[in-house]
Amino acid sequence: MFEKTNEVKVLRDPIHGYIHVEYMVIWDVINSSWFQRLRRIRQLGGAYMVYHCAEHTRFAHSLGVYEIVRRMVNEIEGLKESLNEREKMVVMLAGLLHDVGHGPFSHAFESVTNTSHEVFTCRIIEEDTEITKILENAAEGLSKEVADVIRHTSENPLMSQLISSQLDADRMDYLLRDAYFTGTKYGEFDIERILRTLRVQEGRLVVKQSGVYAVENYIMARYHMYWQIYYHPVARSYEFMLHAIFRRLKDLGETGYPAVDALLQPILTRKKISLSSYFKLDENTCSYAFEVLTEHEDPVVKDLAQRIRDRNLFEYADRDDPQNTLRRKELRKNGYDLKYYWGMDSVQQNPYIPYTDESSETISVQMKNGTLRDLSNASNIVYSLIHGPTLDDEKVFFPCGSE
Ligand code: CA
Repeated sequence: MFEKTNEVKVLRDPIHGYIHVEYMVIWDVINSSWFQRLRRIRQLGGAYMVYHCAEHTRFAHSLGVYEIVRRMVNEIEGLKESLNEREKMVVMLAGLLHDVGHGPFSHAFESVTNTSHEVFTCRIIEEDTEITKILENAAEGLSKEVADVIRHTSENPLMSQLISSQLDADRMDYLLRDAYFTGTKYGEFDIERILRTLRVQEGRLVVKQSGVYAVENYIMARYHMYWQIYYHPVARSYEFMLHAIFRRLKDLGETGYPAVDALLQPILTRKKISLSSYFKLDENTCSYAFEVLTEHEDPVVKDLAQRIRDRNLFEYADRDDPQNTLRRKELRKNGYDLKYYWGMDSVQQNPYIPYTDESSETISVQMKNGTLRDLSNASNIVYSLIHGPTLDDEKVFFPCGSE
């Protein structure tokens, strides 16, 4: 039913070997300007300020998620029989497009503008952009079906489970890709073993008991990646500085440079952001804006833009550090506005969230006798992890030289 490409197209990828494309609609989405825009947005917000090779983009990650989903719907026993051709296409497209709505430096951008990339993802898919047309030309109603999978509102919940759950194509790709590009070996795990041991039971994706060790390894990989990469305090310091400059720009409302204002419109405006102005905002645009703003007359904008460009990052300390009162006093005395020069954040990570009445998105294990058990009752390691103390970390960020 869906038009095939003349031959299977392959894109070389360091994680998966090749990304395989055999349908025109997938190929057309990859070549659309919205999807190509993802080349201009890095996958890891501030982590590349710590791990210097972590420059990989959301473009690469999105292709990787698509490839894992493509393999899942073609290889997993039970799954390949339970989805029809259209459902397989919908879920592959959902994997490809799940991050299409990301803005530059997502965390900082979303918290300053009160937006969410999921909302933009669905708007881009459904609101008559190039992508909507590609999808609707391939099959009427396809755009809504793809967005429904991303929103978790599709009739078949199994489809959303492939894209976003505690064991999904998104996490599998970003862990392997981020481990590769940061050079951290303990982020790796055996994806081949996991894919081989996945099954469908009671309408859900489950893992065979013989795959539990591979899943334990995946849970541990994720746990280590969070604390070593995603929650690295230097990366958080960089993200706070982005947050601070975005907030200052929003408070000012305009920069006085019309060309920069046109690009930064989604940050400066308090109105609903149009897709056309959102399209223009990416990390290249922001880098250009920061360079221009290093000459700005506002001392806060100028200083933060210089610091971001030159990686002159804020220091950090624990939130309950007794020195903090003195630090704040010194900063004020030296003329720093603490609204932009004193940041605080708190991070926490659950290695695995077991089944409760509210959360059904758990990993179920198919025991040898055919019954299902929650992963936390089938793995001693996961059981210990969730019954140990919850790790969290609270930090403050501030310019150096304030002591
Ligand atoms: Ca993702």
